[in-house]
Amino acid sequence: MEVTLPQMLFARERRAQEQQALLRQYHMPLISFTMNIAGPEKDTPLIRRGFQEGCGMLEEGLKREKIPVMHRQIRQEVTGCEAFYVVQGDPERIKSLCARVEDSCQLGRLFDMDVLSPQGEQLRRQTVGRQERGCIICGAPGRGCASRRVHSVQELQQATRRILTEHFQQRDRQEIGTLALRSLLDEVCTTPKPGLVDRENSGSHRDMDIFTFNASASALAPYFLQCATIGQDTRTQLPEDTFRELRAAGIQTEQSMFSATAGVNTHKGAIFTLGTVCGAVGRLWTPEHPCRNLKRILEACAQMTKEAVEQDFAAMSASGEGVTVGQRLYLEHGLTGIRGEVAGGLPSVSEVGLPAFRQALAEGKSRNDAAAIALLHLIAKVTDTNMIARGGMELAREAMEQVGELLEQNPMPEPELIRQLDKMFVQKNLSPGGCADLLAVTLFLHDWCNLDE
Ligand SMILES: [Zn+2]
Repeated sequence: MEVTLPQMLFARERRAQEQQALLRQYHMPLISFTMNIAGPEKDTPLIRRGFQEGCGMLEEGLKREKIPVMHRQIRQEVTGCEAFYVVQGDPERIKSLCARVEDSCQLGRLFDMDVLSPQGEQLRRQTVGRQERGCIICGAPGRGCASRRVHSVQELQQATRRILTEHFQQRDRQEIGTLALRSLLDEVCTTPKPGLVDRENSGSHRDMDIFTFNASASALAPYFLQCATIGQDTRTQLPEDTFRELRAAGIQTEQSMFSATAGVNTHKGAIFTLGTVCGAVGRLWTPEHPCRNLKRILEACAQMTKEAVEQDFAAMSASGEGVTVGQRLYLEHGLTGIRGEVAGGLPSVSEVGLPAFRQALAEGKSRNDAAAIALLHLIAKVTDTNMIARGGMELAREAMEQVGELLEQNPMPEPELIRQLDKMFVQKNLSPGGCADLLAVTLFLHDWCNLDE
C-alpha cells in the first residue's frame, strides 16, 4: 500500500514527539531506528523482515557491548517500521556501535540508526570517525543524488529490493547448509546405535570410525550450501530441472567424500537424501519467508525426484541386471530403497522418525537419547537395503522384527537395552546405514520446520 505525504508528515511529527517524551522520562541516550526506503511504499513483508533483522543485529551488538536497554518500543505500520531503544551509556560509544551495524553489510545501508544524546542532540557519524553514507545506487557520497533526484524512484526501489533479497538469500542458504551439516554430525554422535559407528564403537564396521565420519561430514559442508543455492536459483524452473542439477552436484561431492575417507563410503546415502531435502527447501524459498512447512518440503522432494527415479528403475528393468546391491534388490525383490523413499516424499521421516523423536523429547529425553530412540523406530519400520546387503534378506528381517517387538513392549528403551541390540547387530554383521541417513533427515527437519504448521 502506498502512503500519502500527509501520512508521512504525521508519522515524522509523532516520532519527534515520542523521542522528546522518552528523553524527558529517562534522561538517557536514545536510539531511533527506521528503514531508509525510497518511494511511496514503505511497508512490505520484505521490508519488515529487513527491519526485524536490523533490530536483531542492533540488540545483539548492545548485548555484546553490555549496554543495558531500559526501554524498547517497536511500531510497524504503513508509514514504515520504527523502533526506539532507550539505552544506558556514553552516547558516542552507542553511536559508534550503531554506525558499525549500519556498515556491517549491504543490508545495513538501508538502516537509519539515529542516536540522540540525553540533551536531545543528534550525534553524527563523523563524530565517531565514520564517513557520511553514499547513494545506494551509484555510491556517490552524501545526499547529493537524493536532493538532486538523480535516480528515479523505480531505480531506487529496485536497488532496495535487490539488497534485501540478496541478504536473505545468502543468510537463509547458510542456515540450511549449517543445519544439514549439524544433522550429520548429530547422527554419528548419537550413542548407542545398533551396528552403526557411534561414540562408543564402530559397530559392524572395520574400515571406519567416528573420525572417518567427521572427515566425511566436513568435506560435505560446501555441498549442502550448494544444494540450497541450486534450489533457490532454479525455483522458477521445473522441479525435475532442480533435481538434475542437484544430482550433478551430488556426483562431484561423492568424489570429495571418497578422498576425505580414503575410499570408504560413509555418506553416499546422505548426499542423495539430505541434498535433495536442502534443494527442496531452497526451491520453496522466497526472500520474504523461507519455507518451514514440513508437508510442502516433502512434497517438493517427491516432485523433484519422481521422474528421475522412475527412469532409473525402468532402465534397471530393461537391462535386467543389477550392478549395485540396490539395483539387484530392486530386480529380485522389488525393493525401491532410499530412491523410492525420497520419490514418495519421505514417509518414513514424517510418519516414523519425526513422531518418535518429538515424542521422546516431549517425555524429557535428551537430544541424544531421543535420536537413538527415533533410530530404533526407523529400523523397525523401514526395509533398509544396507542391512540386506550385509546380512542377507533373512537376517535383516529377523533383526527388524526383533527391534519391533522390543519397541512394542517399551517404545522408549533406555541406552542399556540399545547396547544389547548393538551387540546382536555386530554379531550378525548388520548395519542399518539407510536408517541412519533417515535419522539425519529427521533431525534436520525437526530443527528447520515449524512445529505447528
Ligand atoms: Zn546516486
